[in-house]
Amino acid sequence: MVKVTHSLDNCIGCGSCAAVCPKFWDMDYEKGKAVLKDGKKSPPAGGGEEFELEVTNEEDIKCNQEAADVCPTQVIKVIK
Ligand code: SF4
Repeated sequence: MVKVTHSLDNCIGCGSCAAVCPKFWDMDYEKGKAVLKDGKKSPPAGGGEEFELEVTNEEDIKCNQEAADVCPTQVIKVIK
């Protein structure tokens, strides 16, 4: 199982995560931020707004890892 986290503060709404991993990532164009589908709000250590989701399936982990890899501001973390 891995934990996927999305910190909204530095998300620039570029859409790259949703382009490579639409199963888990969507865009909120009104907010100009990405949305981690079914993500639960979690209190981040350093303040700000963060969502997290637990993922177990290998393919789903890979999908989220790709999203993390293409994120220009590195606000997506895949924690093993
Ligand atoms: S790739 Fe990163 S910066 Fe771009 S929308 Fe997704 S989370 Fe935000």
